Amino acid sequence: MKIIAIGRNYAAHIEELNNERPSDPVIFLKPDTAILRNNDPFYYPEFSNNIHFEVELLLKINRDGKYIEKAFAGKYFDEIGIGIDFTARDLQQKCKEKGLPWEIAKGFNGSAPISKFVDKSKFENLNNINFDLEIDGVKKQQGNSGLMLFDFGDIISYVSKFFTLKRGDIIFTGTPEGVGPVEVGNKLVASIEGKKMLEVEIK
Ligand code: MG
Repeated sequence: MKIIAIGRNYAAHIEELNNERPSDPVIFLKPDTAILRNNDPFYYPEFSNNIHFEVELLLKINRDGKYIEKAFAGKYFDEIGIGIDFTARDLQQKCKEKGLPWEIAKGFNGSAPISKFVDKSKFENLNNINFDLEIDGVKKQQGNSGLMLFDFGDIISYVSKFFTLKRGDIIFTGTPEGVGPVEVGNKLVASIEGKKMLEVEIK
């Protein structure tokens, strides 16, 4: 399986990082070795001094497809989850300055903790899903899927032009504003509609 992630999908987050608003979704990949499951802890890597949290809604792809039309995108996922797109912001900044790819800053081991998935039918409106991230009991990020620049259908349609989507692939759909650094000892809790879905301890 592969992990496809969307960058710069919430206007307020684009502003906080002084990035440009994209005309198409910004896509990057993480390898399957980035995944952390079952609330496993995250071990702070020695190659970075500035690991940031980015809480994001996830889609789990349920069938293979390419060149998927937006109108049919909903047939390609049944389940939604939440995850953290851990980012080595210091490495990413260096890569950006040199015009180099970001993979080492985004795809390193453990950089993609994911929750269990829930059936999308549990949500009345996929364009109105609230989610948030707390660290040590303090709310740091709060998002709503309605604020995405590119919605789930746009993302699936665009991504599938370049990469055949396969059953089991996971899409990180972008982070809202409020990203920041983690420290050893922090406990992160990510929730959808107030329901705790994912816990990650930084070790
Ligand atoms: Mg992200």
